[in-house]
Amino acid sequence: MPFALPDIGQEEINEVVDSLQSGWLTTGPKTRQFEKDFASYLGGKIQALAVSSATAGLHLALEAVGIKPGDEVITTTYTFTSTAEVIRYLGAHPIFVDIDPQTLNINTNLIEKAITPHTKAIIPVHIAGLPCNMNSVLSLAQRYNLKVIEDAAHAFPVRYQNKYVGTLSSDVAVFSFYATKTITTGEGGMVVTANPEIAKRCSIMRLHGIDRDAFDRYTSEKPSWYYEIVAPGFKYNMTDIAASIGIHQLKKAQSFKEKRAAIAKRYLQAFDDLPIILPHSPDEREDHAWHLFVIRLTQDAPIQRNAFIQKMSEAGIGCSVHFIPLHMQPYWQNTYHLQNDSFPEATHAYENAVSLPIYSKMTDEDADKVIKTVRSILLS
Ligand SMILES: *Cc1c(COP(=O)(O)O)cnc(C)c1O
Repeated sequence: MPFALPDIGQEEINEVVDSLQSGWLTTGPKTRQFEKDFASYLGGKIQALAVSSATAGLHLALEAVGIKPGDEVITTTYTFTSTAEVIRYLGAHPIFVDIDPQTLNINTNLIEKAITPHTKAIIPVHIAGLPCNMNSVLSLAQRYNLKVIEDAAHAFPVRYQNKYVGTLSSDVAVFSFYATKTITTGEGGMVVTANPEIAKRCSIMRLHGIDRDAFDRYTSEKPSWYYEIVAPGFKYNMTDIAASIGIHQLKKAQSFKEKRAAIAKRYLQAFDDLPIILPHSPDEREDHAWHLFVIRLTQDAPIQRNAFIQKMSEAGIGCSVHFIPLHMQPYWQNTYHLQNDSFPEATHAYENAVSLPIYSKMTDEDADKVIKTVRSILLS
């Protein structure tokens, strides 16, 4: 049993074949359709811009809100390197903050102490699909005049206080459609914003700095081959082949989520008596996308994390670790002289964390096998 598996049906396959046969392979009508569908799924006054990855989307978002060399951007150490590397792309510096041990999300009480005169933005990450304390993040941002870019790579679809992530009052939210994420296009991402200026800048910069509006406005007078470059942009557009997959994944997003939630519920019940910290489980007022199911072995467990994963693997079950905190990665550690004891909660969580398989294609038998194996390892 793999750790993750995409859930691709005949609809996606037919749509891809249709694109291939249409002769239109790159950004075109399917991409526009996917953007329109995605925006109306989330609702509210937002624009959705399809891009080649969430990493690309985060880069575009930071560029669009005006992050410059020497600026500081506050984020969590407990995330994938994408969240922070895009800050370096712009010559700015990530300021890493420790996590809340209950949720694994950025500890919002520590953000204020990390703010300096150079701070320009905060990137909260909704780890595993559990929304961050966005009220705290947004009120700090307002108080200190900071931009907020949500790394929502794990957070589709999920509500925070009855509003979808992507429609909160942050500046931008960026979703990922990487192969292991809750919906996929193979590789892909979506930039979502309610700010028309940010949307415009991202849409120009995702395709070589070509200003489409300037172009469209004059189409009646200029020949069809004419375009104008207004900035040194990037090559971050989504292909129609990828969007073909996305259009149908989006229609299934809710049913995928319900399947993951059912597996999570089974795990939560079955592991209640084990020497592990279970993922924070949302009450009726909260929501969870259940992209990941992260357990943490406690001191009472008869086995350590690496040996546990080895035993799971011997039983034919793939597990993973989310995340190796960035302060423990050579590049980040060396560049910013980071130490484990500055991030005690993230360090401790990492040492004991195991991500169990959770995906819509898992059968009840698969889930039962995971449960049986986890119980037998931890009760031996
Ligand atoms: C997957 C992931 C990303 C990057 O997504 P891509 O679409 O692969 O670029 C960013 N942040 C987090 C937290 C992720 O897990």
